[in-house]
Amino acid sequence: MAQSGAPRRYDALVIGAGFSGLYALHRLRELGVRTRVLEMADAVGGTWLVNRYPGARCDIESIEYSYSFSDEIQQEWVWTETMPAQPEIEAYLNFVADRLDLRRDIAFNTEVAAMTYDDAAAAWTVTTRTGERFIAPFVVAASGILSVPLEPDIAGMGGFEGTSLYTSRWPKSGVDLTGRRVGVVGTGSTGVQLIPVVAREAAHLHVFQRSAAYTLPWQVRPFAPGELDALKADYGNIRAAQREHPVGAARLSAFSVLLDMLARPPLKSASREEQLRAVREHGVMGALNWGDLFFDIDANRMAAQLYGEAVARIVRDPRTAAALVPTHPFACKRPIIDQGYYETFNRDNVTLVDLRAEPINAVTPTGIRTAAGDYDLDVIVYATGFDAMTGALSRIDVRGRDGALLRDVWAREGPVSYLGLQVAGFPNLFTVQGPGSPSAATNFVAALEQHVEWIGDCIAYLRANGHSTIEALPTAQAEWIEHTTALVAPTVLVHPTCSSWYNGGNVPGKKRMYMGYTGGIPEYRRRCDEIAAAGYSGFELG
Ligand code: NAP
Repeated sequence: MAQSGAPRRYDALVIGAGFSGLYALHRLRELGVRTRVLEMADAVGGTWLVNRYPGARCDIESIEYSYSFSDEIQQEWVWTETMPAQPEIEAYLNFVADRLDLRRDIAFNTEVAAMTYDDAAAAWTVTTRTGERFIAPFVVAASGILSVPLEPDIAGMGGFEGTSLYTSRWPKSGVDLTGRRVGVVGTGSTGVQLIPVVAREAAHLHVFQRSAAYTLPWQVRPFAPGELDALKADYGNIRAAQREHPVGAARLSAFSVLLDMLARPPLKSASREEQLRAVREHGVMGALNWGDLFFDIDANRMAAQLYGEAVARIVRDPRTAAALVPTHPFACKRPIIDQGYYETFNRDNVTLVDLRAEPINAVTPTGIRTAAGDYDLDVIVYATGFDAMTGALSRIDVRGRDGALLRDVWAREGPVSYLGLQVAGFPNLFTVQGPGSPSAATNFVAALEQHVEWIGDCIAYLRANGHSTIEALPTAQAEWIEHTTALVAPTVLVHPTCSSWYNGGNVPGKKRMYMGYTGGIPEYRRRCDEIAAAGYSGFELG
């Protein structure tokens, strides 16, 4: 990579201008830290800029999936729906960027390719794809936990003569699918949101499903007149409740529903009549709303069976209904909520292709060939997920102390980190929502606010106390990993049949390890604050 011009120097560099990066910039600026944000896209928004596929929507309520740090912003911004759709979140982040005058410190179209720690100078040199260089003592990686798309490796993909689309980089101008024969590959959160919308447009939709999803029907609605104003008037209480809630979202959300299940009676002691009544009255939710599913794999399997009975009450074709029943334990993957997912399979123009029965052999010039035959398509949409948590920093050449490459460390040891905030051997590099932090299983926005504030305070502390470096100690890191692993050990989340982005199981060759902290945000915050108050215990300050 050619180097161009003299390096530009800052006090801190932030990678990414999504939810985390925007707040990091604002916070660091407030602390008097000269900061530059490097953003590969041409606009702010991060994941909410590029995942603009039809149906893209958040599964946490808008008034909670938003910054709490500024009362002005939360009072001025007007949400139109209970759970915001992608265009509204993108507009919100643009509003925040304007309101806080953030753009003047963001370099757009600036993709970080490499960063190297210079021990003697106690600083990072960050080099972009075009060879520009930036030097700063601190780097804050706000590069996203779900920002590196996974493209499947299917033979013949490049030779498809129709249109290939990726949900994670959907064309800004939109795509007219009217009257077209569409195939969707992937039935995670993205596919489940996309499929009902595409079904309404396409001439015919084939859903290529490798793993069936557990998904709960959800009503998303516009705010009634006056409703948002009443909520805003109560924002103090709403934010206080959120702050105390383990998942950082106290109102009804995909996560709070999961947590509420823990308090429910066990499925194993429910009579058959009670089980059937639950399904009759509450559908798929009734099949899963039991207290023992997280800890008892047999109860979880019973729930899957009951879930199948609930799905069969909605989906008319028995073969399709059976194929839509997941075989992995419930809760292994992130909860999904949907609007009319199962009903979509009752449409005449929708066909489920069960890849467990007929795997994909190849993409041909005219469509998809499975073990059972050819499906002719005009458009193939890939909704195949992300290299989560570690993907964004792994595709950058991050070289820490003694030239160690971060991606090698993670490949060798798994996604290790101390608190999800730093990796031993990589001084002064902070990760927002890194592996081992609450991020994955919580309201990302609540989690990132806590991280950004902790990082900002830490940098301010170092500067005020004449320290130039902070580095996680390997022992503290090992203890933290041991702790996060022990927390999740009694749950079905680590069952051998669980494979998802939570544990890296969705990326071929990635070392498996559950990547979240399941103790909840309040307890995590308490620990982080305690560590800071003790002079940053577990870190070495230089
Ligand atoms: P995902 O949950 O990882 O799902 C990817 C899907 O693609 C899975 O069904 C996977 O099957 C399938 N797949 C991957 N490679 C394949 C191949 N070669 N052939 C056939 N199928 C293949 O990814 P996602 O749906 O993009 O969601 C990722 C995360 O993004 C979510 O968990 C959530 O955190 C976030 N998200 C949130 C929302 C929301 O707020 N509502 C919406 C979208 C995304 P297997 O399961 O068999 O691997």
